[in-house]
Amino acid sequence: MTYLRLAGLSVGALCAASAAFAQGYPERQITMVVPFAAGGPTDTVARLVAEKMGTDLGTQIIIENLGGAGGTLGASQVAEAEADGYTVLLHHIGMATSETLYRNLAYDTLNAFEYVGLVTEVPMTVLARNDFEPADMAAFIEYVKANGDSLTLANAGIGAASHLCGMLLMQALEVPLVTVPYKGTGPAMTDLLGGQVDIMCDQTTNTTKQIQGATVKAYAVTTPERLELFPDLPTVAEAGIPAAEVSIWHGIYTPKGTPAEVNEALSASLQKALADPGIVKAFADLGTTPSPAEDATPAALKEKLETEIARWKPVIEAAGVYAD
Ligand code: ASP
Repeated sequence: MTYLRLAGLSVGALCAASAAFAQGYPERQITMVVPFAAGGPTDTVARLVAEKMGTDLGTQIIIENLGGAGGTLGASQVAEAEADGYTVLLHHIGMATSETLYRNLAYDTLNAFEYVGLVTEVPMTVLARNDFEPADMAAFIEYVKANGDSLTLANAGIGAASHLCGMLLMQALEVPLVTVPYKGTGPAMTDLLGGQVDIMCDQTTNTTKQIQGATVKAYAVTTPERLELFPDLPTVAEAGIPAAEVSIWHGIYTPKGTPAEVNEALSASLQKALADPGIVKAFADLGTTPSPAEDATPAALKEKLETEIARWKPVIEAAGVYAD
């Protein structure tokens, strides 16, 4: 539709056109951008959800991993994509923290996207390579405090959940660990397993199998309560560092201007996917639960993003860590 034809349409006609567009939607394959490397926790959640949503929508949702710059690279590509419903972004809490962490962000977080809904909230675990000396969380704290400036901390770049968790840990322990950035915590986990880095803080969606297989050393969980999956792991609050408490929520976005009907169609499909027993089980096996239907909505995600930007801004400013 040309600009001239659009300019000639009334608002009512535009709404009708948009509703008609949504009715035929989707007519082709949808791309879901994951702003981190394949094999990591965001990728895992995205692949599970995309497959179910695709089946429901009668199309294929393919995953495109665009890792780099703590998730902001992938987010900026989606911000610039066609607002036609065929490019969506699955991102986590980093969508909110990057707004403060990056003073020269390529997009205006609250004005560059439309909202589909919340997907899940995932606990973080504090880990180290398998031959890391400390036996438990109390010893870990003591050891890291004494040796902090020579220990390495893997993360997925400034803006990633692993970065936020690591930052809270460093602040709480008052140690400057040497950070090693990756395009995602999938590759970071490979290096942790290989002993090339010492410590990592990451979602259970990427750490459960390794903790269960005892191929890494797990020290604590960042949730207010202990996890059913790892009842022996203390919470960070129990360990005396409640300021390191954090849960990683995920949401699905579309570029600004994507018709509301399309976002609603995606949201309805997301709700169905999250209620699917297979997804519930797969999420449970990875230490997480799907967001309830009332949160898998555009309004709930918008509110969450706004609240979380405001929540983390003072924390990041107090830490004084910026990406630029
Ligand atoms: N979610 C991870 C993080 O924020 C990155 C990833 O999914 O690979 O560190």
